[in-house]
Amino acid sequence: MKKGIHPEYKKTTATCACGNVMEVGSTRDEIKVEICSACHPFFTGKQKLVDTAGRIDRFRKKFAGFDASKMAK
Ligand SMILES: [Zn+2]
Repeated sequence: MKKGIHPEYKKTTATCACGNVMEVGSTRDEIKVEICSACHPFFTGKQKLVDTAGRIDRFRKKFAGFDASKMAK
């Protein structure tokens, strides 16, 4: 790798809106993010669990009284 043509890759801190600070590798001095692994619903699972519960409830209402044995014939 030639010197002078690539920006210096160094360790810096990424600060999230939730207050979480992560150490990451970047060419920038400071990074600000709105969401991170500590507060993202995908990682916390909170929003996903609520949504899944609603889907199961709707599924049960839709197929209430459904007789699977009639489909086999
Ligand atoms: Zn966060």
